Order: sequence, then C-alpha cells, then structure tokens
Amino acid sequence: MYFKRIDMHGFKSFAEPVSIEFHDGITCIVGPNGSGKSNISDAIRWVLGEQSPKMLRGGKMEEVIFAGTANRKSRGMAEVTLVIDNSTGILPIDYSEVAITRRMYRSGESEYSINNNQCRLKDIRELIMDTGIGVDGYSLIGQGKIAEIVSNKPESRREIFEEAAGIVKYRTKKAESERKLEASAGNLERVNDIIVEIE
Ligand code: ATP
Repeated sequence: MYFKRIDMHGFKSFAEPVSIEFHDGITCIVGPNGSGKSNISDAIRWVLGEQSPKMLRGGKMEEVIFAGTANRKSRGMAEVTLVIDNSTGILPIDYSEVAITRRMYRSGESEYSINNNQCRLKDIRELIMDTGIGVDGYSLIGQGKIAEIVSNKPESRREIFEEAAGIVKYRTKKAESERKLEASAGNLERVNDIIVEIE
C-alpha cells in the first residue's frame, strides 16, 4: 500500500487544482520557505479525517480554505483527494485503488467520500484503522511529534504501539459494544419497571 496521488483544490495555498504523483519508494518534496511543502502533509492529514485545526497549524478549521491573495479571490471550498494503492489488500475494501475525498465549505459543512461514494467520517476512520496512516497513526510524524512521543505518558505511548500492532480496531469495536450493552441494560431496567407497575 502506498499513496499514489494527491489532488488539492482550494486547500490552503493551493488555490487552483494541483495534482502530485507519488511513486513506490521515497518521495522528497523540496522548495523555498513558505512555498507550501507542509501544506501538502497538512492536506494528507486533513483528508484522512483530522478534526483539530491545531494539528493543521491553524486556529480554525475554515483556515484550510484558500484565503485569497492581493490578486486572487478567496475560495468557498477546499477539496482534497488522496489516491491510495491497495493492490496488497491492506485496506479492507474490494478495490485495488482507493480514493478518499474530503470537501469543506465556508459554511462549515463537510463531506467525505470513498471512491466517489459519499460516506461518513467514521467509514474513513474504520477503513484506515490499524494501517498506521490514520491521524493517530505512527506514519504521519509532524513537527515536534518525536519529542512528544518521548515525553508522553506510558499510556499514550502504548496507544502508538497498539495502532502499530493492529489492535485499535478491536478496542474500538469493544468500546462500541460495551456502549450498546449499557444502553440495552438501561432499556431492560425500564421494561422491568413497567412490568412491575403493571403487575
Ligand atoms: P517552510 O519551509 O518555511 O516550513 P513550507 O514550504 O512548508 O515552508 P507551508 O507552511 O506549507 O510552507 O506554506 C505556508 C504558506 O501557505 C504561507 O505563504 C501561507 O500564507 C500559505 N497559506 C496557508 N494557509 C493558507 C490559506 N488558507 N490561504 C492561502 N494561503 C495559505
């Protein structure tokens, strides 16, 4: 599995549609200060579901939309598509190529899709869970991340190992099932109360 391409339109400094092809192996992005190198990694983080503007080096999520320059109008929407090679089948979906898209409007409305089928953020999270490429994964190392990992509490460091070991999926499903069980227990209690009232 590897990233094949990223398409950006209206995202941060990329006002016009821009496509960057990646190939198997190492890709280096070089350019002058302020030319948008980090904006590319922000786009990857964002399309994979990042919800924290701080992690995208901003104050508000709206700041990911091209804000305009002296001679260019601002945009009303930011869109990023990340195309992932899935020929090894690591992503649990029946496609050898997976395109994840995120769109955000100035109104704050967000849309997500997988291979052009609209979906929820949850579907994207589930798709990439335990692959290491998620926003909490270990393969996107932002500036200052290494220092943070070293100084982290043991429990937070454990989460990184759990993602790498591929057990986050099961932990999330377990938590979801526990929540459902709790809700069912509450419902049962209510039913019992009604039965007692009727008797
Ligand atoms: P450095 O080498 O200094 O780290 P860089 O190549 O990583 O720089 P970035 O931080 O990716 O550069 O890009 C910064 C540029 O992106 C700035 O010029 C900033 O004005 C521009 N930028 C960020 N957000 C927006 C936005 N919403 N609209 C327009 N431009 C933006």
